[in-house]
Amino acid sequence: MQKRNIFLSGLLAFTMASCATIEDSNMDSQSMNAHGKLPASARTLDMFKPGSEVCYDREVMGETFVVDAHNHFRPFGGAAKSMDEINSYLLDTGVLFVNVFGIGQSLPVDSTCEYYLDCIGTPARPSMKNDFVNASNYLDSDPEGTVMTMSMTFPDLANPENVAAQIAVMDEEFPGMFKWMGEVNLVKQALFGNHHSAAPQSAIADWSEFMTILRDRDIPISIHSDLGSDDQPMKYAYLMDEVLRLYPDNKIVWVHMGLSKELPSINPDTHITKMQDYLDRYPNLMLDITWRVIFDNYFQEPDMRAKYAAFFEYNSDRILPGTDFVASHKKTYEVYKNEVLANSDIFKDLSNTAFRNIALGQNYFDIAGMDYTAPDVCK
Ligand SMILES: [Zn+2]
Repeated sequence: MQKRNIFLSGLLAFTMASCATIEDSNMDSQSMNAHGKLPASARTLDMFKPGSEVCYDREVMGETFVVDAHNHFRPFGGAAKSMDEINSYLLDTGVLFVNVFGIGQSLPVDSTCEYYLDCIGTPARPSMKNDFVNASNYLDSDPEGTVMTMSMTFPDLANPENVAAQIAVMDEEFPGMFKWMGEVNLVKQALFGNHHSAAPQSAIADWSEFMTILRDRDIPISIHSDLGSDDQPMKYAYLMDEVLRLYPDNKIVWVHMGLSKELPSINPDTHITKMQDYLDRYPNLMLDITWRVIFDNYFQEPDMRAKYAAFFEYNSDRILPGTDFVASHKKTYEVYKNEVLANSDIFKDLSNTAFRNIALGQNYFDIAGMDYTAPDVCK
């Protein structure tokens, strides 16, 4: 409790020096190193192997994250990018570790739609297809230079009775390959036009069989659960309350900190206080701070940015970075690069310790149980 009071008063006192409104173009130049390029080639997997003595120079090697803990390798519908092409995007931006998500709700194969908001009324449903495709592509392309963590995206959280059996199918077809679950949707208001609705609270108790499997295997689960909308900011908070109450020992990642396009202007003090309360009560909870929408609405305006930077600093071992990229065939390298830059921008304001934990991946290695270590930042 005392720690928390120090934090809250620290929030008030916290001021930042460099938080101008940022356009993509000048954000590029701010994130480039002295040579004017994204310093991707300065980063190698060897630097992250235990025992490596190389220190990380933020000025030379850049302040963008090396971990993308939220990347959808499958689009909602239509053609996807090849895994080789995505891997080249990762290497060119210096992202060395990535979670390979499918997509929580995909459009029917006979639909011509590629994005759910373009085809309101078409059902978007969870499916095992995209996880099979990701695993097969991974085996076929055997990407080099990066570490990819396969993730199970198929669970239907409103109808969880088949999830354990589906995990058994993945075990049979791709033994040992899937080490993460998510992004799965508990409530995603953006999909309400596509036959998705908030999962009933009563269904959460029925997750126990698959949550036990995840716990036994030490597999994290990334859950999309909107807090609410601007007119009712905490409308759906009861759903994550129930998840955390029932499964406090699972490694749960709350994506986007509950924020969304439908909640672009919650009071940051209200939001931060709410998130701090969850973090204090549930030590296994982590927050995913990905998505361009969050950067645009919360991490640009200097006062708000300072509050969130202080919040991340205080909880620097509880935060995961990434893009929330969706690998539709229409996207280019420029799109991915700009998402890396936007989603990394606030890390410029963090101390070396917090930068190492979040951007250099120590939190990710810890939660995923990986045999990598973030390098120390050079003094
Ligand atoms: Zn996502």
